[in-house]
Amino acid sequence: MNIILIGPPGVGKGTQAKNIIKRYQVPHISTGEILRENIKKQTKLGIHAKTFMDMGKLVPDYDVLGMVSRRLADDDCFHGFVFDGFPRTIPQADGLSKLLSNTDKRLDRVIVLKASDEIIIKRLSSRRSCNNCGRIYNLLFNSPKNDNKCDVCGEELTQREDDKPETIKKRLDIYRLQTEPLINYYEKLDLTVFINGESDINNISEEIFQILDEID
Ligand code: ADP
Ligand code: ADP
Ligand code: ZN
Repeated sequence: MNIILIGPPGVGKGTQAKNIIKRYQVPHISTGEILRENIKKQTKLGIHAKTFMDMGKLVPDYDVLGMVSRRLADDDCFHGFVFDGFPRTIPQADGLSKLLSNTDKRLDRVIVLKASDEIIIKRLSSRRSCNNCGRIYNLLFNSPKNDNKCDVCGEELTQREDDKPETIKKRLDIYRLQTEPLINYYEKLDLTVFINGESDINNISEEIFQILDEID
C-alpha cells in the first residue's frame, strides 16, 4: 500500500497517518518528523534545515529528496508506506516518481484533506506533541488525560517552534503557492481522493479506511 497524504499544515495528516499505520502495518514517513529528529541530534542536515523550518519556509528539494531516497531503501518500506508532508513541491513529486519507478513501485492513492484557514489556525495554535513517542495532542480538540503530559509515556508535551501565529500564516501561504498545485498533478494521474478534514478524527479515519480497504 503506497499512499500520500496531502493537505495544509494542521489539517490532520500526522494524526490520520498514525491511525492508518495501526490498521495496515506500513511505515509512516513524515519528512517533518525526520527533519525534527535531525535537528534534535544536531546533524548537518538538521542544522541546515532548521534555518528554513524556523521561518516556515520549505527545506530545499535536494535535501528532502536525498532523505526520502535513503528512507525508502529501508526494509520496512518493502510492502508500502504512508507519506505525510511529502511531496510538497512539483520537483519533489517528480523525484518521488523516479524513485518509485526505479524499484518498480507505484502510488495507490493520494488522499487530499481539506479544512478552512480558520479551523487550521485554531488547531495549530493549540497543537502539542510528545517529543519522546511522537503522539500528537490538541489542547482544544484532543487533550491529554493529565495536564500537559503524554498519555502513553508521561513525557512533558511541547509546542512546536513553527506553530506560532506569524509562522503559521507564512506556512499556509507557502502551502497554497507550492504544495496545492500537486493536487492537480495527481488528479491528472487519477490518484486523488478528497476528504473533509473538518469532521472529527475518528470519522475521518473511517472514511480513509473505506478507501484504503479497496486497494488490493
Ligand atoms: P505540518 O505537519 O504542520 O504540515 P511538517 O511536520 O510536515 O508540518 O513540516 C514542518 C516543516 O518541515 C515545514 O514547514 C518545512 O519547513 C519542513 N518540511 C517538512 N517536509 C518537507 C518537505 N517535503 N519539503 C520541504 N520542507 C519540508
Ligand atoms: P498535520 O500533520 O496536518 O500538520 P496534525 O495531525 O498534527 O496535522 O494535527 C494538527 C492539530 O489538530 C493537532 O493538535 C491534532 O491533535 C489536531 N487535530 C487533528 N485532526 C483533527 C480533527 N479532525 N479535529 C480536531 N482536531 C484535530
Ligand atoms: Zn509520549
